[in-house]
Amino acid sequence: MGQPGSKIRSDLLCASCGCNLLGQPKTGECPECGMLVAESLPPVMLKESDPDWIRALRNGTSWMLAGIACYFILMLFIGIMTARLIEAQPNNLAPGKTLVLPGWYLVTNLALMAVVSIILCIAIWQITTPEPEALRPQTTRDIARWALLASYALMMIAIVVQLPQSEDSTALATCLHALAGLLSLIGTVSLLAYLRDLAMRLPDTRLAGHTKAVQLGTIGAVVVGFVAFMGLLGSIASPNNPQSRPPPLALIALMLAGLAMLVLVIWWVVLILRFRGWFATAHRMAVYHAHNQTAVRY
Ligand SMILES: [Zn+2]
Repeated sequence: MGQPGSKIRSDLLCASCGCNLLGQPKTGECPECGMLVAESLPPVMLKESDPDWIRALRNGTSWMLAGIACYFILMLFIGIMTARLIEAQPNNLAPGKTLVLPGWYLVTNLALMAVVSIILCIAIWQITTPEPEALRPQTTRDIARWALLASYALMMIAIVVQLPQSEDSTALATCLHALAGLLSLIGTVSLLAYLRDLAMRLPDTRLAGHTKAVQLGTIGAVVVGFVAFMGLLGSIASPNNPQSRPPPLALIALMLAGLAMLVLVIWWVVLILRFRGWFATAHRMAVYHAHNQTAVRY
């Protein structure tokens, strides 16, 4: 990494206008077209980057794997608890009655969700650690960090708000969950864009391609799932549909979107494992590189 304010020490053509940037500060702009000088520099490989920063990336991927594993265990646990609850009070599922959830059930859910959220927050915090002396703006990293942390916080608030189980509190919790979902989508798409840039600095173009595929797949699955869900809601609430029969097309689309999400999560776990291996290797090489700084630099 260059020192802040250090200058370009050899011929380097501006990627936009072709002007020679020799002697320009690395943090400056092209004197001809105004593009950031950093945009014309070749990307710095991770193995030549700050070792502490790469260690944070590696630790972040470990926390991410732990968080995903805990999330699945949590879902299984909540599923079993809910099934037991319905078994214990079957009358509550009769038409016209709403299932009243006991306080202990909600508090246990809240506590377990809190543990998973904290693990995932640590993961996001580490993976999106700012790169020291980064010359380029890191917009996707910033968006990923704050959108994902905000979405976890909103989800926790939504569960707390829901505790009284009144009509108002449920409506507010639904709004908070929707907002959390939107932020989570924005954060996930940004995180995948950031990881794709990191993959190019490993360099592993195949991993970058897979990361992009998961990114596009996530957007597609969420859009299809959302449209199908709104279609279902609309048809059930419609006065033209007295039997409240859900349209089969919307049901199929919703199921396909759910299946796609499952595939994407498994794919995501495989990619995280791959990134973790790469980050571990890059960290070892970066430590070595930091001790033997003889590489020729621009
Ligand atoms: Zn230029």
